[in-house]
Amino acid sequence: MPGSTMPAVLGFEGSANKIGVGIVRDGTVLANPRRTYVTPPGTGFLPGDTARHHRAVILDLLEEALTEAGLTSQDIDCVAYTKGPGMGAPLASVAVVARTVAQLWNKPLLGVNHCIGHIEMGRLITGATNPTVLYVSGGNTQVIAYSEHRYRIFGETIDIAVGNCLDRFARVLKISNDPSPGYNIEQMAKRGKKLVELPYTVKGMDVSFSGILSFIEDAAQRMLATGECTPEDLCFSLQETVFAMLVEITERAMAHCGSEEALIVGGVGCNMRLQEMMETMCQERGARLFATDERFCIDNGAMIAQAGWEMFQAGHRTHLSDSGVTQRYRTDEVEVTWRD
Ligand code: MG
Repeated sequence: MPGSTMPAVLGFEGSANKIGVGIVRDGTVLANPRRTYVTPPGTGFLPGDTARHHRAVILDLLEEALTEAGLTSQDIDCVAYTKGPGMGAPLASVAVVARTVAQLWNKPLLGVNHCIGHIEMGRLITGATNPTVLYVSGGNTQVIAYSEHRYRIFGETIDIAVGNCLDRFARVLKISNDPSPGYNIEQMAKRGKKLVELPYTVKGMDVSFSGILSFIEDAAQRMLATGECTPEDLCFSLQETVFAMLVEITERAMAHCGSEEALIVGGVGCNMRLQEMMETMCQERGARLFATDERFCIDNGAMIAQAGWEMFQAGHRTHLSDSGVTQRYRTDEVEVTWRD
């Protein structure tokens, strides 16, 4: 509804291979168009090429978002963008557009932590109030719980993200990146029958995936050549192993916090097998599991708009001179002033 007195926040996201523009007004997602940069099987996405992709489509997406929301630039109260973490070149390209739009429209600007965008989107969509959060994607793997105005990291990967482990394994098997390598691994895993034993690397509250990746890369060449197992068996085994590790550290954080809610966010969070394993763990503890579908758990503009909306309402503003990007930006660096 144009002319509404509720603030509407526009959010730009482009920290990895998705570019999205979302508009949120008072807990309602008015628009959330997105494009994904998909590379050929066997290859990943490089920062320069990804940034070029984002630059080519971002203005179309902006127009699409405004049209879908039925709003004009005048109806937007704040322009939010992803400050980090993420890949440098894509982040910088998107930030330039956000800064330009904010100045052209004479609107305040807000740099948003990407991880906090995921958490706030998850809370908005599911209604979870104070969940222990499992954030799993191509770039991040963290178990997070809120305390005293910070999202505290209870456990995390000590090397690569779980999604990166899956993506790179997909490259070894030349699995398609369309719509995403993780989605295609999930479909293949459903046809897997044999569990191949892989290293299980939980270290205290942290997890490690790089050793598992090298192990399965070697095993894949050897076992597929001898017919000891199928590509489907390997997809199945990899998922079962890495998801069990994630469920273990999430459960331990929940026990520590006395948490009755778990929330999965991030691109790997739409994997139904991960959701099923988390559900089993939650049921056994008498806790509730919250998860979202691909529209909201995969990187998108609305999540940046939603976190931006909370920050805007709480009085945050990013000055132009401070409106850069940063590849490293930890979840617990942000003071969460909008929660009690
Ligand atoms: Mg993400």
